[in-house]
Amino acid sequence: MIIKCPNCKSKNVQKRGFRNNNLGKKQKYFCSDCEKWFVESDGFERMRHDPKIIARAIHMHEDGFSLFQTQNHLWQYDGVKVTRKTISDWTKKYSLFLKSHKFSGKTKTKRKTTL
Ligand SMILES: [Zn+2]
Repeated sequence: MIIKCPNCKSKNVQKRGFRNNNLGKKQKYFCSDCEKWFVESDGFERMRHDPKIIARAIHMHEDGFSLFQTQNHLWQYDGVKVTRKTISDWTKKYSLFLKSHKFSGKTKTKRKTTL
């Protein structure tokens, strides 16, 4: 399988060590063209994500975190690298679903009604 940079689609990427997260070891790559790091991921090539991650991202975003903050949180705390576009797509795609199905994720802190 050819690894392409998720950022600039360059094939000029190098293996550079590993990153550990709770799912195990992941190969890290460095793109020589745009000089960005990325991890061989379920995130970039395939659009498969843990529903809990998706739910959390949507909740965070709806609670007022920016796409950037949400993206950063997922990366820092979950080792999940997604684009802001992906998060934005999730919120469009799944937020109604989550609302209507009372997705059983983390219990949310009580939100003040600001109406
Ligand atoms: Zn690149």
